[in-house]
Amino acid sequence: MKQEWRKYLGLRAPRYTSYPSALHFDEQVSAEDYGARLGETALYEPLSLYIHVPFCKSLCWYCGCNMRVENDYGRALRYVDALRREIALAGKALSGAGRARSIHFGGGTPNFLKVEDLERVLDAIEAELGLTDSTSLAIELDPRLIRNGDIDRLAALGFGRMSLGVQDFDAGVQAAINRVQRFELVESAVGEMRRVGLTDISFDLLYGLPRQTLQSYKETLEETVALSPDRVAVFGYAHLPAALPNQRLIDEHSLPGAELRADLALLADEMLVAAGYVRIGFDHYAKRDNPLARAARTGRLRRNFQGFTDDLSETTIGFGASAISFVGEMYAQNAKTLGEYYACVEKGRMATSRGLVLSPRERVIASAIRTFLCRSEVDIRPLLAAFAPRDANSICANLDKLEVDGVIRWNEDIVTLAPGANILARVVAMALDPYEAAIGCEQGRALAQAI
Ligand code: SF4
Repeated sequence: MKQEWRKYLGLRAPRYTSYPSALHFDEQVSAEDYGARLGETALYEPLSLYIHVPFCKSLCWYCGCNMRVENDYGRALRYVDALRREIALAGKALSGAGRARSIHFGGGTPNFLKVEDLERVLDAIEAELGLTDSTSLAIELDPRLIRNGDIDRLAALGFGRMSLGVQDFDAGVQAAINRVQRFELVESAVGEMRRVGLTDISFDLLYGLPRQTLQSYKETLEETVALSPDRVAVFGYAHLPAALPNQRLIDEHSLPGAELRADLALLADEMLVAAGYVRIGFDHYAKRDNPLARAARTGRLRRNFQGFTDDLSETTIGFGASAISFVGEMYAQNAKTLGEYYACVEKGRMATSRGLVLSPRERVIASAIRTFLCRSEVDIRPLLAAFAPRDANSICANLDKLEVDGVIRWNEDIVTLAPGANILARVVAMALDPYEAAIGCEQGRALAQAI
């Protein structure tokens, strides 16, 4: 890595799975506003549906998700009933409009729910929103909770993509994050998935975890490559103990420093590319014939709440506590706690608690950031034109610094990520993002006020 890039390693850049991030949502968006937007959905509008399952069997200390450890399955059944009610409410608001193109179960741990209860959720979707043979179904699975016969039954329901939370195979790292799952467990899950004919298996890996070393991570990556998943997402662990009390259980002294973190990410990139995976955006990898790689090749790669995707739907409808929807340029997030969520849905009301309606300027910024992250290149003319000259100059000042340091190439209005700089892609996105008052530019904060 270039010496000039090291100063950017400590910056906390947003993941930009939405723009602006959920931190900027407020109470201005009500359940009524959200319902009204749903009612404006076009008849055949492709819909991406997200179902949040907030339950887990145990707590991973690094966790940043909206989840709760649950030992009483009866409580999960109440949640399934609430999901079905919420789906019915959305169906009423849509009144026949929209077509489910994709359904993604995330969490928490979706396979905390038994398959028959996942099926009840799917039945509600089919009855209220409609399913077609081409609707794609994806689910995140905790390998420790896969029951005998689960994979067969999920495949029979039509789940064509299954994603395993692997994180790291090293026993010492697993102990340090309180997520112990033997390699053989993951190997057996992958074997089951291949046996039922699945061709889209995804692994999530994390770097920046306690006790990770280059050698331990190399072994994790070798074991990953040996199991040959179709996609691999390599996320950086964000240590935020002030906001996430469970992360205080992690021994801070065993966390890798910024430089080792970067070297771990670079090692993953190098080994996965050497193993034949195509780099997708800045943190996903896919086999050449995987739909994600095809989408990247043909310029159809998108970024949504789950990360990089080949799902072209502009509209996302989220169900469950804390789930976020994006409908008609409006973000709407459900109440985060189960109590608040039930209080709304069980009384027949949408559970929206906060959100944001994108301003015309925010749409331009969102588009510039999304394009840059998906293609490593963007024409910044529309972005600069959206701001007064003084503020546009501020964005240019940020980009100037990055160009001087060789992070980007800037030719006319086209900004391109430099080869090998994918680890800094989100830092470049920050430079395009006035909310982030990027990379220490003094005018940045003033610019943030101008949105
Ligand atoms: S399984 Fe996932 S959601 Fe549950 S505690 Fe672990 S990281 Fe968090």
